[in-house]
Amino acid sequence: MEILDHLIGGESVAGTSGRTSPVYNPATGQQSAELPLASVTEVDNAVAVAAEAFSTWRRSSLATRTKHMFRFRELVDRNTDEIARRLTAEHGKVLSDARGEVARGLENIEYACGIAELLKGEYNEQASTGVDVYTVRQPLGVVAGITPFNFPAMVPLWMIPTAVATGNTFVLKPSERDPSAPMFVAELFHEAGFPPGVLNVVNGDKEAVDRLLTHPDIAAVSFVGSTPIAQHIFTTANEHGKRVQALAGAKNHMIVLPDADVNVAADAAVSAAFGSAGERCMAISVAVVVGDVADELVSAIEDRVGKLVVGPGDRTESEMGPLITREAQERVAGYIQAGADAGAKVVVDGRDTQFDGDGFFLGASLLDEVSPDMSVYEDEIFGPVLSVVRVGSYTEAVDLIKANPWGNGAAIFTRDGGAARRFQEDADAGMVGINVPIPVPVAYHSFGGWKDSLFGDTTMYGPEGVRFYSKAKVVTERWPDPSTSTVDLGFPTND
Ligand code: NAD
Repeated sequence: MEILDHLIGGESVAGTSGRTSPVYNPATGQQSAELPLASVTEVDNAVAVAAEAFSTWRRSSLATRTKHMFRFRELVDRNTDEIARRLTAEHGKVLSDARGEVARGLENIEYACGIAELLKGEYNEQASTGVDVYTVRQPLGVVAGITPFNFPAMVPLWMIPTAVATGNTFVLKPSERDPSAPMFVAELFHEAGFPPGVLNVVNGDKEAVDRLLTHPDIAAVSFVGSTPIAQHIFTTANEHGKRVQALAGAKNHMIVLPDADVNVAADAAVSAAFGSAGERCMAISVAVVVGDVADELVSAIEDRVGKLVVGPGDRTESEMGPLITREAQERVAGYIQAGADAGAKVVVDGRDTQFDGDGFFLGASLLDEVSPDMSVYEDEIFGPVLSVVRVGSYTEAVDLIKANPWGNGAAIFTRDGGAARRFQEDADAGMVGINVPIPVPVAYHSFGGWKDSLFGDTTMYGPEGVRFYSKAKVVTERWPDPSTSTVDLGFPTND
């Protein structure tokens, strides 16, 4: 059985806590590796190495940071297939999704390559006679990133490039479910020439996370994961005086208006609900269908779900892979039953699909006539289940989104410009799609939801990322009156 390591100060470091966690291949159900879970002492070692590296990295030139970042970008790009292979082997997503994940991560490295432009300060000459004032942004220190299982390579890349380009050093605690891809990305980071200690990876669970949240030398915490853990991260890190951004769970709605192109909306709903087996924080889990287009849309989605090829992610023909764990598979299957028991119409039951072997597979499910009081509507299922809620008007649809405690993404499908424009104003969510089901912002805009989908006031990556990982300093400077200078500056003399 392969035993994985931590990566501290640029070196692989074996775990010493004696505690481990199994890593599975979800397509086979077999354990593929054993992951060490860091103790408090091991976390402290990683933070000490990062703090030591900070004292020199913070003074590195923008030219040096940019040069390393460009190399890192080339290495990640060149190794896309290997990163994708690791993602598929431990997460289960199909290879095309895995390559897409790497591509979205690369965008953030590319953004950070422009750090010289992004860190340009502001300057006022002659604020008062002989007084100039300027603002610079300086790094925070050692920052920690705690990331979820569903995008094991991309989410760390939402954080690391901006954090290190702004002059911080980083300790990453990836998900214990699929650690190999982020570990490989961290190795590429070192190969790119970044000094040892600028990026460190400690594997672990609650013990490691709680130490990062309370460690006096951690200046800021970036978290992405489920809502209850995000709340814990936000509260604890705040209590310990840290800057925190904690991106959390979601329940994303896609409104389909009666004038929408049914085929376009059905294609979008299927790819957004079942891509990556629905294990995406921007997945569409509720289609809110307005008026009499509902029958036609449900039948168009049903047709497409029937043709979805579910299988191991490394098979070319597979369009959807397994769930992350046996427990997730059973939990999601339980929601289909709960929906049926509560009166929803199970149009396609993913439990009926048969699979060979012990993989954590579950077919795609479509539930119609779902109402907001059912658990299938209320909870974040995080699996391949699409609920259809039928409503009579646009206002009813928008009110559903408003009433929902989460506010990550929201989408509308329509051919009416007025309705689309009105929706972007009304939608109670941080990221809005107009005829785009998964409106994940490009790297030069920032990512984050509203309400219970984000704790903290700074969203992730892009301009907000630069703001989060740096603090402003305003310098007011006065020099002696130039006419008193001992250097001949060309002032008239009395001679
Ligand atoms: P999770 O909350 O279980 O785990 C996230 C991280 O927190 C992991 O590194 C894990 O080790 C750590 N953790 C777990 N339990 C902990 C505890 N009790 N104390 C301290 N740390 C703990 O989330 P997950 O299952 O890995 O990921 C899926 C969730 O992430 C979903 O809810 C999804 O919506 C959310 N997510 C949100 C976004 C977003 O941008 N809003 C993006 C991706 C995923």
